[in-house]
Amino acid sequence: MDRLEPDGNGVLNKSVPVMMRHYLRIANSKHRVALARVLLSGHRYAIEALRRVEGIVERENRWCRLCGVGVESPEHVWFECRGRTELGTLRRRLALDITKGCSQREVNWILDGQGVCEHLKRLVAVRNSVTMVAQFAYEVEELMKVWVDW
Ligand SMILES: [Zn+2]
Repeated sequence: MDRLEPDGNGVLNKSVPVMMRHYLRIANSKHRVALARVLLSGHRYAIEALRRVEGIVERENRWCRLCGVGVESPEHVWFECRGRTELGTLRRRLALDITKGCSQREVNWILDGQGVCEHLKRLVAVRNSVTMVAQFAYEVEELMKVWVDW
């Protein structure tokens, strides 16, 4: 099955059979690895980490260790969690970087996504935002190492 890339209008409908992932071009290796962990489910957020422990913790019970409200997924911690004020600061900087580094068309396309999973997909699909998202992934991961048993 071909994968979809944004067309000239920023719409994710250009079918490409083979194409190097944008995140593989990220120069900072720590940032690239942090994002790759999230994209390939090799991260330590509870939604994945609790899959690997003895005894089954149902997906819906893998609570966020920061707020205790939602399931602790990368999307939750990155875009929804209110458990730490530092996350809000990082989100605001990411949003500012994206508005400065991406075209208005790209920003609109990213914002038109429905839900946090779609936002993440679109942020990674846009060549100009993937580097910023990778830095964000790294910075959140570093804070999670301090905040929780990572
Ligand atoms: Zn949370």
